Parts: sequence; structure tokens; C-alpha cells
Amino acid sequence: MAHVLADAVWPAVPSSGALVLVPVGSTEQHGPHLPLDTDTFVARAVVERTAEVLPEAWVAPPIAYGASGEHAHFPGTVSIGHEALRAVVVELTRSLALWAGRVVFVNGHGGNTATLDTALAQLRAEGHTVAWTACETPNGDAHAGRTETSLMLHLDPDRVRLDAAVAGNTRPLAALLPALMADGVRAVSPSGVLGDPTGASAEEGGRTLDAMVAATLRRIGGWAIDGRGRLVDPGRQSGEARR
Ligand SMILES: [Zn+2]
Repeated sequence: MAHVLADAVWPAVPSSGALVLVPVGSTEQHGPHLPLDTDTFVARAVVERTAEVLPEAWVAPPIAYGASGEHAHFPGTVSIGHEALRAVVVELTRSLALWAGRVVFVNGHGGNTATLDTALAQLRAEGHTVAWTACETPNGDAHAGRTETSLMLHLDPDRVRLDAAVAGNTRPLAALLPALMADGVRAVSPSGVLGDPTGASAEEGGRTLDAMVAATLRRIGGWAIDGRGRLVDPGRQSGEARR
């Protein structure tokens, strides 16, 4: 069983040395078939499973709002933007540093990436033992497509409206990015889907989740951190990594 901070009483929490894992997500549209908390839910699941393996790990309540301005044209999306997210990450870490040994932010939303890089660079410069890592999968599609639909079918199938699923814009994210950054997701995909949920399955979602947890464990175990505050995968360690 993972240690869950929200369920604990204070005498049960160690006064030093804990590894605190903070899921970072978003509240944003995920097409007509996935719930608005998909990114938060996936990040929380990765954190919980990671913490089950690491006895010193604690699961912190997730940051459920992120930088989701590119999804603002869809009702339901709630974004706090880069500056507020940066401030939350910085202040959470300063507060956690009073009793935690190490802090790792585990991010489920690509739109938070630049903010986490900025916040973590600042925190590392302040001397905090903190890093971040992403829930990512090789060859995954960008948003509310097969990858995320499979993950949610595995984690919480009752909340997936599979009969409402539609294929979205399937061009590579790199090709869509200029228009997406300028005019938002709705301009390139009226449904909000980037990718295609066709073929999604709980089995595939389970394999993807296992791979995300394994990568997170490898990165925490190696504890090599690059200049952006990201945990480096020991399988893909670069020259710039430092301890
Ligand atoms: Zn997502």
C-alpha cells in the first residue's frame, strides 16, 4: 500500500527523508468521450503505482489545474496559466522542504512542460532536492486519442463514453503546433481530439501504464537530473546529466 498524504495523520508522517510524489495534471477538454480530469487521473495513477514500490514514497494531493490555454475554446476547460502554475510548484516545494527529503513532480499534461522547466530550474538554483518527470510513452498520440483512451479504459472504464469517440486531427503534433499555439486546439480539431481513439483498449492502456510506472521508477532510482530539472532515464542518459 502506498502512503497517501491526504489520508494520513501528522504523527504518521516522517519529519525528514520522505520522497513526496506530486501528480500534476489539468482540467481541460479531452474530446467528446474522455473526462476533463484525464491528465490528472493518469498522473495520479502513475504516482500511486510508483509509490507502492518505494517504501519511502508519499502520494501528495494532485495539482488538478494546469496551463491549458490552448484548450480555452472548449467549455469545461479551466486553466490557471503558466505564471500561477509556476508559483504553485515553487511554493509547494518550499513548503514540502520543511519535512520532505525529496520532491518529484509527475506530470500528465504536455502543456505544463515549459512551466515545470522554469519552476524547477529556479528551485534547483535555490538548493532544493526536487525534480520532475513526465508520464510519456513512445509513439503515443497527442491528445484524447488512442493512448489516453486506452489508459482511461484501463483505469476507469465507466467514465469513458466510447460511443461518442471520434477521430480527430491525426497530423503529427509538430506539424500542428504553430497553428495550435496561435489559434488554439479548436482551430485544428473541432472535436478537441488530436489523434484517433480507434483501436483503444484496456489491455493496451494497462501496458502503457506499466511502461510509465517502470520509467518513473528507473528515473527516480537513477536520480540523475538535467539542466531543466528533469529526471533522466538511465536507459537514455545524456552527457549533460548531473547528480
Ligand atoms: Zn491529456
